[in-house]
Amino acid sequence: MQRSEIINWLRETDPGRLEDLWRLADRTRRENVGDEVHLRGLVELSNHCVRLCGYCGLRAANAGLQRYRMSDDEILLCAHQAIEFGYGTVVLQSGEDPQLTRGRMTGLIRRIKAETPLAVTLSLGERDDDELAEWRRAGADRYLLRFETSNRALYDRIHPPKADVPSAAKRRKSDRLAILGTLRELDYEVGSGVMIGIPGQTFDDLADDIELFGRIELDMIGVGPYLCHPDTPLADRRAWPDAPAGRQVPADEIMTYKVIALTRLVCPRTNIPATTALATLNTDYGRELGLVRGANVAMPNLTPPKYRILYEIYPDKACLAETGLKCHRCLSARIKALGRRPGAGRGDSPNYHQRLTIGTENVVRDRPE
Ligand code: SAH
Repeated sequence: MQRSEIINWLRETDPGRLEDLWRLADRTRRENVGDEVHLRGLVELSNHCVRLCGYCGLRAANAGLQRYRMSDDEILLCAHQAIEFGYGTVVLQSGEDPQLTRGRMTGLIRRIKAETPLAVTLSLGERDDDELAEWRRAGADRYLLRFETSNRALYDRIHPPKADVPSAAKRRKSDRLAILGTLRELDYEVGSGVMIGIPGQTFDDLADDIELFGRIELDMIGVGPYLCHPDTPLADRRAWPDAPAGRQVPADEIMTYKVIALTRLVCPRTNIPATTALATLNTDYGRELGLVRGANVAMPNLTPPKYRILYEIYPDKACLAETGLKCHRCLSARIKALGRRPGAGRGDSPNYHQRLTIGTENVVRDRPE
């Protein structure tokens, strides 16, 4: 797809023409990844974080947040619930928490892999190469790390260096694209994505993001609207102004559907979730509309409610007070009502299987710069 087409769609406001985009994305989804909706049970295992991301409520400097870390036994209970509900994957997500040490995570991954047939996805932030390698060897299958925005200057502004790390080496600039390259070399299934409507993010930036998705051949791409958390720096609109009039991307529902649909057209075989952030903007139908406009994955939350309310990356998150069982029933009913079916098995990325079949020696490794 030409860049000018991407920009035109991002700026399109005519409901009739947008219907064409939704139809095209839905057809492309059906032809490439089918009617199954893969379910990934999400476990938010810790809200401790050493980072200072300007957008995220878990940031280290947010002293008002009560912190928690789940025990291995609690996490295993969630994994067993995932099996009971028929999910193929458990996603272990957290703030960047040094207490989730290499050894602790290795033990946890081994235990989940020994006790269950689940695929294990990690989303633990920016971790060292040797940790990522060891967790892969322990059996972790996938890793999610959004690059958040491809605009380097904007990224640096919203994503300052780590808190409390004295050594110059560790204060090096975060480079999530480099980590995605490492994950790829370690043979993880690799997921990434961006936020939509970050203050200062322009239509050109967002078009760059979508073009980059196409170039780095991801297995999973999660996109969701930026949602303002009042206790974060980005909430100060004087310090974090919008891009000049007419250039700022709105952080709204329609823009999110456009990015999901365009991502499907640019990356036909990738797994694309209808995200919680989208469901937060439209609790009634956000997930469903995502699923009929390009998405093929949903991530029901398995985190026990007492912890779930504390995993506040942004306020008023969808399904905050629900139990895993309630999320499960609700999502299953919604998927069936769309005439789709919950995925059987692990729901691996077809891109990943293709890479394995071809053999890595023949794959042109399009490493992100
Ligand atoms: N510590 C992990 C997991 C963070 S939460 C990591 O950094 O990868 C997962 C995603 O939630 C982030 O990548 C970000 O894209 C999204 N997120 C965080 N704060 C948000 C906000 N205020 N609005 C919308 N999405 C947000």
